[in-house]
Amino acid sequence: MGDVLAKFEGKCTQCGKTHRSHRKETVVCDCWRLCPVCNAEMTTYTPDLAPATYGLDGKRELQILMVCTRHSPPFLSTQKPVEVACT
Ligand SMILES: [Zn+2]
Ligand SMILES: [Zn+2]
Repeated sequence: MGDVLAKFEGKCTQCGKTHRSHRKETVVCDCWRLCPVCNAEMTTYTPDLAPATYGLDGKRELQILMVCTRHSPPFLSTQKPVEVACT
């Protein structure tokens, strides 16, 4: 296809990576999956003992952590997916 005409772009507030798109849209940066210590891709970790938390609107928010098992003890990250608006 050659070069895509990317008129819209946005910067991830977490890692600073610039995402480009040919239309206005919100993309999710994948940096939240990467371990900030060793840069390896982390795996999902859902704590068994986490109490149910209720937001103001009554919706239950599922707490998902990411864990990198390369470390001892394993590194736990509470980083959420970062949405980047390409404008
Ligand atoms: Zn990012
Ligand atoms: Zn790591």
